[in-house]
Amino acid sequence: MSAESSSSGTEDVAMEYDSYGKTPFRALNENIRLLVSPFEELAGTATVGFVCECAREHCFATVDLSLREYGAVCSDDAHRLIFPGHEHAREEVVVLTRRYAVVKLSGE
Ligand SMILES: [Zn+2]
Repeated sequence: MSAESSSSGTEDVAMEYDSYGKTPFRALNENIRLLVSPFEELAGTATVGFVCECAREHCFATVDLSLREYGAVCSDDAHRLIFPGHEHAREEVVVLTRRYAVVKLSGE
């Protein structure tokens, strides 16, 4: 796995990175999880569309994962759920699957 990103727009992302920890999508995703959780048993391994929590300001990509998978992501405040490939150079990718990736905020 390469730490380097060849995608364009990296500089814009860097400028917005400082407010990244305040992504509103974490709260949104936790609400989605709360709403769906009563149906977890019925849902089984069915996936739910969560919103990408990457550093890009206008990213509204949906990321499909099961409630159990998302529960594992948000059990750590430093972890962010992202669409694969949306990681920032200052983030460490801790989980990478074909459907989603989990990054860890680096530094402070
Ligand atoms: Zn994204």
